[in-house]
Amino acid sequence: MASSPVPAALPVAVIGAGIVGMATARALQRAGRQVVVLDNEDPGRKTSFGNAGFIAIDHVLPLCRPDVLRRVPKMLRDPNGPLTIHLPSLLWLLPWMARFALAARDSEVKKGVDAFGTLMEEANASWKSEIQSSNLGELFRSLGALYVYETEAGFQSGAHERALQAAKGTAMEIVDGNRARELAPGLAPHIVKGVYYPHGMHTISPYHVVTALAERFVAEGGRIEKAKVTGIDVDGNRATAVRMGDRVKPVDAVVICAGRASGDITRHLRFRAPLVAERGYHVMVEPTNVRFTLPVSPSERGFFITPMREGLRLAGTVELGAPDKPPSWHRADLLVKHLKSIFPGVGGAETSRWMGERPSLPDFRPAIGRAPHHHNVYCGYGHQHVGLTLATATARLIVRLMDGEALPPTLASCDPGRFGS
Ligand SMILES: Cc1cc2nc3c(=O)[nH]c(=O)nc-3n(C[C@H](O)[C@H](O)[C@H](O)COP(=O)(O)OP(=O)(O)OC[C@H]3O[C@@H](n4cnc5c(N)ncnc54)[C@H](O)[C@@H]3O)c2cc1C
Repeated sequence: MASSPVPAALPVAVIGAGIVGMATARALQRAGRQVVVLDNEDPGRKTSFGNAGFIAIDHVLPLCRPDVLRRVPKMLRDPNGPLTIHLPSLLWLLPWMARFALAARDSEVKKGVDAFGTLMEEANASWKSEIQSSNLGELFRSLGALYVYETEAGFQSGAHERALQAAKGTAMEIVDGNRARELAPGLAPHIVKGVYYPHGMHTISPYHVVTALAERFVAEGGRIEKAKVTGIDVDGNRATAVRMGDRVKPVDAVVICAGRASGDITRHLRFRAPLVAERGYHVMVEPTNVRFTLPVSPSERGFFITPMREGLRLAGTVELGAPDKPPSWHRADLLVKHLKSIFPGVGGAETSRWMGERPSLPDFRPAIGRAPHHHNVYCGYGHQHVGLTLATATARLIVRLMDGEALPPTLASCDPGRFGS
């Protein structure tokens, strides 16, 4: 008697081919899962395309804090400051800002510090192993990083974070202006202080990190389909299929890594992901007169100057906004002005500019874990300023959850269900 064919195992569907989705797809693949990645764009074309490239494992203090809250009125008045608000989005932003204000309490900040402590440790180990296993070495540089300060007051404002870093044993050197200029030749004479992190690592092409992961994933049998996920079918507390318009794909599990658009998917599963677009900009300039190799961040201006494969990248600043609004290009012009005052005479003609929407939840903790009502749906979004840094850590944590392990208790505060239904 002919035996009936064994049905093929259903795949895990990873929604989103940004850095978080692709790192997650690779980790699941290595764990022996059959994985399909679904995205309506090519891998790495959204926020993961143009970041500053810094693996910020020393970033341990969430941005949602009482001192940041106190600066909001000033933010509203200064369209050229490091933090600003896209005024046409103001009404849309109000509920998010109310949640932000509630989350800027000392008890919430502590939860964030504890969560970031765990996540950054995981990030450090997991990036090292991903670079090896996906053969990404040529895209990364371990040259340290330098934060520079134009005023003593600016330097003092970083004291709390430095104390937290020191308690963790982070290697750092506090330097005066002259030593900063030795570390990054060309820095302006008015720089008074710096903090050098000798173990800092950066990529020279964030976009190519995503495409390299995607190529490796496909080469090892993974599938990437160009499709927008429009819904999720459920049966009781299980997701059974993802919908892409008229197409229905049966699945074994779902991982939501759709960046800023993740809330469009979670609402099908009856929980909220109140994400704003924390808009950031980059400008690429020709690397004329560049005599430094490490990323330099003028902290008071809130951006990074990173030597990259395609030129010198000026990337950062924050403009809170609603999704999919036209860019405020004067924010990019500002980055060029900043470069002129921090590194006079450095950098040539502009070659391109870009805006990206950091996916930011009001408490500035990512959502990592199981969805509240469906036990085979997992979440990895809301990584705000550190999505590149935390991508491989998120990936590993999701694999562990799928394998039946519990997350460390410090990550309970990253539960995706914390914003309710
Ligand atoms: C100026 C700037 C500088 C930054 N610098 C750094 C840095 O130095 N270090 C660092 O760690 N981080 C940095 N970041 C943050 C980092 O870039 C982000 O946190 C990260 O890229 C987010 O990745 P993601 O995969 O979650 O989102 P994305 O890269 O946006 O990917 C989400 C994907 O989901 C897809 N998607 C959405 N909806 C659907 C749907 N319905 N169906 C199918 N697919 C869908 C999208 O098309 C997209 O491809 C910076 C960000 C900016 C803007």
